[in-house]
Amino acid sequence: MRDVLPPESMRMRAATGVFADVVTRAGYGEVAPPLLEDIGVFARLGDGTDVVTKEMYDFVDKGGRHIALRPEQTASVCRLFVEHRPPTPFKAWYAGANFRYEKPQRGRYRQFDQFGVEVLGSSDPDLDVEVIALAHDFYRSLGLTGVEIVINSLGLPTDRAAYTAALGEFCRSRAADLSEAGRDTLAKNPLRLLDSKRSEDRAALADAPPIDEFWSVEAAQHHEHVLQGLTSLGIEFTEDRRLVRGLDYYRLTTFEFRSSALDGAQNAVGGGGRYDGLVENLGGPSTPGVGFALGVERTLLACDAENVFSAPSNAADVFIVDTAGCGDALAMTTELRRSGLRCERAYDARSMKAQMKAADRSGARVAIIVGEHEAQTGTVTIRDMSGATDQQSISRNEAVEYIHRLLNP
Ligand code: AMP
Repeated sequence: MRDVLPPESMRMRAATGVFADVVTRAGYGEVAPPLLEDIGVFARLGDGTDVVTKEMYDFVDKGGRHIALRPEQTASVCRLFVEHRPPTPFKAWYAGANFRYEKPQRGRYRQFDQFGVEVLGSSDPDLDVEVIALAHDFYRSLGLTGVEIVINSLGLPTDRAAYTAALGEFCRSRAADLSEAGRDTLAKNPLRLLDSKRSEDRAALADAPPIDEFWSVEAAQHHEHVLQGLTSLGIEFTEDRRLVRGLDYYRLTTFEFRSSALDGAQNAVGGGGRYDGLVENLGGPSTPGVGFALGVERTLLACDAENVFSAPSNAADVFIVDTAGCGDALAMTTELRRSGLRCERAYDARSMKAQMKAADRSGARVAIIVGEHEAQTGTVTIRDMSGATDQQSISRNEAVEYIHRLLNP
């Protein structure tokens, strides 16, 4: 787990602002589910995924309840949908921390943030296009140009079941060539073998049957509609028949966002797709859903790699230098801050020289000097830190207005 300090913390906040703007324009409302849920909420994601079987932080609370720190937020959004029954389509966005007990490495942490959206209550393929377009627009708004969209369809649940069976049979006939971990995966969920990164598994599956041979007419039409929608918006994508999601709830569209600027192993900056059955399983009515989750830290690593979206400046507008120690500095600082300026000051009655150094470091364009002489004459001295104009003495009463005019001519 990481500590996030300025300026990275400001950058994360700014990225949240960009994401909120993009999705709010599309009618999504923010939801903030708790960090903890009853473990049953996540257990319903199924046992086909490490996220649920191996990586959850869970504990028994003082009331004897079995609780988990959320490893993702789709299940939480479905749980809150069941509890509050908002009108459909329910279009929600979220930003916040998730916890997974994974092996930490660059781009993979045990606490990480995600931005995401979920739409519950509509199976319109235009929504698949909409959510992909929103993620695309968000990346573009950050300035990223190297994010590729990879897309596939898992077909309807019956297509997917038929495919899983056929793939299982194929893989069992090649079991001897699989890695040991691969054989384990085969026993649990053959679909997950498709995205195995191990070279033995990849070789063994080289001529595995492709999923599109199992698509029903309805699934093929849905997929075609999504691809045409993306094309009509000028959004580029590539198709990958091996892109699957392990969870039993996924159906039809699945997609992933990959940054070409990041290392292969951790290049996924986000992913999502259609799912159903999750709301029903949590006690609600049968409800289709579609959404995505983007990894915030990894997206910012991609920004580093592409040299875009640097941290916003935290430079002060004004710095107060106080050598009088009579309370004027405190008053001025407060007044300037209340007037909307970013105002910093020195503390501990340090020397003029030390305070001027601090003023320099603060990035302020203007320093206001409050010394003995100024305090006695009801004035302040204004110093342009760039040295472009001469130092000025002005009346204390006019100082705030003067500074505003100076900074925003
Ligand atoms: P997932 O919820 O597993 O589909 O992940 C969606 C996105 O979240 C991934 O594409 C990553 O960008 C990000 N992500 C997942 N796990 C981690 C992690 N442990 N650390 C950092 N980012 C992660």
